[in-house]
Amino acid sequence: MNCNLEPIKREQIIAKYLSRSLSADAVEEFEGHYLGCDECFDELRVSESLAADLRSSNMAWKTNSGVSVLQFRAAAELTHAANTLDELRREVLEQADSRVIIDLGRVTKIDSAGLGQLMSCYSHLVRNQGSLKVVNPTPEIRKLLDMTGISTLIPAFSNESDAIKSFSN
Ligand SMILES: [Zn+2]
Repeated sequence: MNCNLEPIKREQIIAKYLSRSLSADAVEEFEGHYLGCDECFDELRVSESLAADLRSSNMAWKTNSGVSVLQFRAAAELTHAANTLDELRREVLEQADSRVIIDLGRVTKIDSAGLGQLMSCYSHLVRNQGSLKVVNPTPEIRKLLDMTGISTLIPAFSNESDAIKSFSN
């Protein structure tokens, strides 16, 4: 089947379709079309994976001296209201390395749900013969980690190189 959509129009429809801002009628019309249209089908799949990359782009891994460091690309909250928690768990569980540092430098707020998620990451890593450390917490977050006793399990460091060194102790 030949596509009857102009490329620009197609891009707009796909973008709206992926952001769920098409009307119900337009969704129905588009779904009816793209399933039979190779061009639209391919384009939709490419756009979809780009959109998925964007959605999960607030966290990124790097390796420093053999230790995996998880960083936030933008300011984030580790709270029950933020979808960052699921993302954090997924990132840590899917990480093959069990020696992990989480850089909290861009984390502005943590609540009990966030602390719980850090603890479940910690448990997962320890079960896999690894450990978890955090770096660059704000003074408030550091205080919270100390008050709750979590810092005795998940030590907090003010810089990455100290955290890295602590793995070899
Ligand atoms: Zn088409």
